[in-house]
Amino acid sequence: MFELTDQPIDSAALRARLERPEAGACVVFEGWVRNHHGGRPVTQLDYEAFDELARIEGDAITAEAEEAHPGCTVLCVHRTGSLAIGELAVWIGVASPHRHGAFLACRQVIEEIKRRLPVWKKEHHPGNIAEWVNCTTESTAGRLSPGNYYERQASLPEVGASGQAALAAASVLVVGIGGLGCPAALYLATSGVGRLTLVDAGRVEVSNLHRQILFTADDVGAAKVSVAAARLRMHNPLVQVEARDADVTPGNVLALVAGRTAVLDCTDNFATRFLLHDACRQAGVPLVQAAVYRFEGELNLFEPGAQGCLHCLWSGRKPAQLETAPNCSGGPVFAPAVGVLGIMQAAEALKLILRLTDPIDFKQTRLINLLDASSYGIERPADPACPVCGLAQQTETPGDAAPPPRSESSDDFPLILQPQDIAALGPVQMIALLEAGEALDAATAPAGAIAVPMVDLIRIRELAGKGPAILACRRGLRSAALARLLRIEGVGRVYALAGGLGAIRIGVISA
Ligand SMILES: [Zn+2]
Repeated sequence: MFELTDQPIDSAALRARLERPEAGACVVFEGWVRNHHGGRPVTQLDYEAFDELARIEGDAITAEAEEAHPGCTVLCVHRTGSLAIGELAVWIGVASPHRHGAFLACRQVIEEIKRRLPVWKKEHHPGNIAEWVNCTTESTAGRLSPGNYYERQASLPEVGASGQAALAAASVLVVGIGGLGCPAALYLATSGVGRLTLVDAGRVEVSNLHRQILFTADDVGAAKVSVAAARLRMHNPLVQVEARDADVTPGNVLALVAGRTAVLDCTDNFATRFLLHDACRQAGVPLVQAAVYRFEGELNLFEPGAQGCLHCLWSGRKPAQLETAPNCSGGPVFAPAVGVLGIMQAAEALKLILRLTDPIDFKQTRLINLLDASSYGIERPADPACPVCGLAQQTETPGDAAPPPRSESSDDFPLILQPQDIAALGPVQMIALLEAGEALDAATAPAGAIAVPMVDLIRIRELAGKGPAILACRRGLRSAALARLLRIEGVGRVYALAGGLGAIRIGVISA
């Protein structure tokens, strides 16, 4: 609840209004009129408010804090008129079952009041001098400035003052404040992206804490976006952080995406991935997307209007057909894998803003594996059948094709197959992955092996999707990465041959 008053604030009476038997804590903030500011003596303060607007905004701010921190009751009173030194200008009280929620809610209200409330402050100095003061920037004045905060970054020749200005002018949307979104948003904020909007309807859970690094054990139960936004503002008060406690839906996605410099997809479900992808394409906004499965992740940069889109990547399958594929939603995940991928998303967004993106990065899927510390770029070609990229002759919509065969869970099978175990699989398709300039040795290749260029993901998917398949590359590393990717996509029984093509050539499996 929010109130404006032109009478002195009675803090004891306000605290009594918050008392209730189930409350275990009450956190109170009192803003006092002090006798100095910015190194100058102050004799008096005048507060002026747009009354009706201030009441509406104040009520919204306290209601948001109560929603973000369940169990909290918030009361905020702001003075107007002329105030003498030592008088109470603003009083915020939060009663809560637990102290930490009360602290967080109180802090959230302080920050939002400072940022959003239409109240202006006039400072009186000795000698009948009076000046209006900007409440939004006053807390950081003198301590932080873009000059000292970004000093070490702006001194990079690739950034410089103009790059820092471009970052300050940028607006980036981060959807999903989880394992990817936490580190991504943190680095975007500290790098100076001027406006960050965080979207997530989730609440902090205990099982999030091992990888969602903006949250602490005390935040459990609170709205993710509120906690994350408060932490980011503490890290860098020079940027604007906006929290949207909501899901991305077909009804709000275009409004969220439009006008952004870049969008980061840090979600863990295919429905949102496709929704964001299509909206970004429509709005002409570049999209940085990442997904993680166990120790490995993939990173995609989608340029609006370019071929090789998300529909190409998933061969026209619909989100509902992909939702059963293993991904990080509820599955096992190595915390540093989401950390690395989230930070890579931030890096790609910053490079987009600074115009440092290598054009090839728009055309490939990058696979990062933390188990063997490998990183591979695999071309993401346009699917000739993709209706979105405009290449398709057919009229069917993406996803009308039959879902890939997935009669058994891919997690039931080892990913890396030893040569001596091949026979036990029964009929199986061997796919030899060739790098540029490489040819399959017909004399030693197993009967029925099909050679496919490593970059021809569409052909590899098609072959692997038909049934049990073994991928074999020269040394066995890339085939493992590709097999993992295909399993993420829902292709069930696909294996990588341990030792790679070398294992075939020495005849281990020729019988
Ligand atoms: Zn496409």
